This record gives sequence, structure tokens and C-alpha cells, in this order.
Amino acid sequence: MQENKVKNEDILLHCCCAPCSTTCIEELIDDGYNIILWFSNDNIYPKEENEKRFAELIKLARFHNLKVIRNSYDHDKWLAAVSGLENEKEGGERCSICFDYNLNITHKKALELGIKYFTTTLTVSRYKNSLKIFEVGNKYSGFVEKNFKKKNGYARSIKLSKDLNLYRQKYCGCEFSLRDALLFEKQRAEKSKNI
Ligand code: SF4
Repeated sequence: MQENKVKNEDILLHCCCAPCSTTCIEELIDDGYNIILWFSNDNIYPKEENEKRFAELIKLARFHNLKVIRNSYDHDKWLAAVSGLENEKEGGERCSICFDYNLNITHKKALELGIKYFTTTLTVSRYKNSLKIFEVGNKYSGFVEKNFKKKNGYARSIKLSKDLNLYRQKYCGCEFSLRDALLFEKQRAEKSKNI
């Protein structure tokens, strides 16, 4: 479903983390939705990081007085889904499978709860292709195309995270994105030593 103003409709918002959720919540409230937050992120590694991101989302939910529902954590299941794609760069095929994995679960949860609409905070990231996320999301009924990058959403999410003192991680979520982020930091440090 394309972006539109609505009145008093429930929407299940798949939240990857609190910082990305900040601006998405603002926008969905402005659209007229009643938001239910959904934390289901088997991709996040390690488990402690998953816990930490959930705890931050709770802080944000309290701030907005929103309900949060959490799924159980099964990282092995997610690993099996992306098997063979471990060396893909962020933004590649592994990420498309990861989007599908999380949106499929979100869709099922929305159906179970009798919530007509669902969407995801994933489009706020400037590292993620919103059209790719829409392509995946539109496989499922009730998906709402929200491009949260629009209206300077990414920059606003950083500002709101600072204002609310939210923990903001330095990698997307899985161990492969952590590996690449650490490698990038190392290369940057080595480069600056040689200047
Ligand atoms: S980099 Fe992010 S989107 Fe891509 S597979 Fe890993 S957790 Fe999923």
C-alpha cells in the first residue's frame, strides 16, 4: 500500500532498533496510525546486542506510551536462512533475504493479531535501499510503503537519538556486518597512521 494519511488504523511497526524507530514513530503518528511496536530481529548478533537494542526500544516506547511486543530470539534459524551468503557485502543478496525473513515474520504476527497494516523501520537507514525493501514487503498483504529516509529522516533519527540519550550501534546487526564494520575501522586507523 502506498503512503497515505489514515485515521485511527492500527499498524504493526517492525523495529530494528530504537534510534531508527524514533523518526518512524513520529511520522506514523502524524499519518494518524495507532502504532504497536514489534521487536523481532533474529539477525542481530550477539544475543547481548539483541537484548541491548530491545532495552533501548523499551525506553522509546515509554516515552511515546506505546505497546511493544517482542518475539523470541532464534539466531540459528536466521543463519540457516542466509547460509552461503556470509561474504556478501551489506546491501547485497544476504540483506534481501534478511529483509524477507523479518517482514515475513512481521506479516504473520500482524495476521495473528488481526492488525491490517504493517511496515518497518528499515527504510530509515541510508545504507538500505528502500525500493528493495518495498519489493520484499509487497509480497505480503497489508504492507505499507513508508520511505522513512524522506524528509531528512536519517539525520532526524540521529538527532532524536541524541536528545533521548539512546544507544546507537555502529553496525547493522549480524556478525557479518560487525566483521565488516570492524575491518573498516581498522583500515581507517591504519590509513590515518600513514598520513
Ligand atoms: S547487514 Fe543488516 S540487513 Fe544485511 S544481513 Fe546483516 S543484519 Fe541483515
